[in-house]
Amino acid sequence: MNDMFVLNADQQAILDTVRRFVDEEVRPRSAMLDSRQNPEDCFSWELVEKAHELGIRTMTLAEKWGGLGLDSLTTAMVVEELAIGDMGVAVVMAQTFKIAQLMQQAFNEEQQMRVLPAIARNPRSVLAIGMSEPGNGSDKHTNQPVPFQTGAERTRGGWIVNGIKHFISNGNRASHYLVMVQTDRQKTMANGSTCFLLERGHPGFTIGRIHEKMGERLANNAELIFQDCVMPDENVVGEVNKGSEIFARFSPQSNAYAGATVLGVAVALHRKAVEWAKLRVQGGKRLVEHDGIRAQLAEMRMLIDASRSYIHRACWFADRPQLGWDKTLGALPKAMAAQSAWKIATWCLEIHGGHGYMKETGVEKLVRDAAAFLHSDGVNRTLFLKAANSMFRD
Ligand SMILES: Cc1cc2nc3c(=O)[nH]c(=O)nc-3n(C[C@H](O)[C@H](O)[C@H](O)COP(=O)(O)OP(=O)(O)OC[C@H]3O[C@@H](n4cnc5c(N)ncnc54)[C@H](O)[C@@H]3O)c2cc1C
Repeated sequence: MNDMFVLNADQQAILDTVRRFVDEEVRPRSAMLDSRQNPEDCFSWELVEKAHELGIRTMTLAEKWGGLGLDSLTTAMVVEELAIGDMGVAVVMAQTFKIAQLMQQAFNEEQQMRVLPAIARNPRSVLAIGMSEPGNGSDKHTNQPVPFQTGAERTRGGWIVNGIKHFISNGNRASHYLVMVQTDRQKTMANGSTCFLLERGHPGFTIGRIHEKMGERLANNAELIFQDCVMPDENVVGEVNKGSEIFARFSPQSNAYAGATVLGVAVALHRKAVEWAKLRVQGGKRLVEHDGIRAQLAEMRMLIDASRSYIHRACWFADRPQLGWDKTLGALPKAMAAQSAWKIATWCLEIHGGHGYMKETGVEKLVRDAAAFLHSDGVNRTLFLKAANSMFRD
């Protein structure tokens, strides 16, 4: 059993491999890929293939499917390490880790046999989840009584799907998707939507715009378009009209992984702030010798350590719900890590003075990256609302 606070030998070996990947493959390419103008050119298949070679891409698949069967806690540690190198790369992998874990639990045997070996085999297989729509963002987190706009009509042996999803991470790159579709338009998304498994190239399904993002550029986000797309019954994951249960039941740690992603950026910012404070001399001594700056560097450390503890706690309980999982752990760790990272980003900028604003120090890229998770995986305010809804059921 994993202990929450002590790394075991397996975790140590896994994290060593991930750090090597980050040092040798990610860090040397990150700034160059980030600077490309066309968002599609910021994504690197080479990095995905390298991650495959090192066994990283498939780490959360069980051994019988060719992976290592990582638990949630170890997965969060891996995601943080990847994000210390580059947030976009961490997102590409974190989506794949998370969805692979969900698929192994939620798929029936036929779906597992059809999809999991294909994911394991293909060095370019990454995964995506399609929920958000142009007209539906936070509502899925705050449990509003509204339906998804992407809807399906019954046909013989399946469903005809029409609609559009947007902002989807890995949307234009994934080999397989899980997509939420309204199958009962008289009901809300919570009790009238269904989770469908979708394979790339499925007739009636195309990729729309690739979004132009301010940060997290090494990951692509895209629109998913459905035009009379016939989904067979075999592609329904779980039960019809019970799609939201699939995510609540089989992916409770999703929020913690999002937290681990932005936490990695906070760590990278803190490292930069410390390095700079040790180098830069003002008032006749190094910045790190000025009490105000020293104290701020310690406060950053506190925010990082506290966010990490919260994320690890959520992951630990997500794998052992009977020991004390509570629903606020599915909403608050990311909000805390994102708020901390945002604070650390502005402090790191400030400690760098004018140099922080210059692209050459690399701080501005991290600031752009840190902003992504104020909204991704749920806007912080709506996550507080989600937590409050689970605290006060009246
Ligand atoms: C980088 C990135 C990656 C993403 N990846 C994915 C993905 O892979 N799959 C996917 O499905 N989606 C993805 N999303 C979408 C993301 O989940 C949504 O952006 C998020 O849920 C917020 O929705 P919205 O942008 O429509 O904001 P809105 O819902 O329009 O919110 C706007 C503002 O209103 C506030 N607000 C909304 N409702 C309430 C309320 N009831 N009470 C009080 N305030 C409220 C919000 O807090 C926010 O401040 C991604 C987004 C980003 C930025």
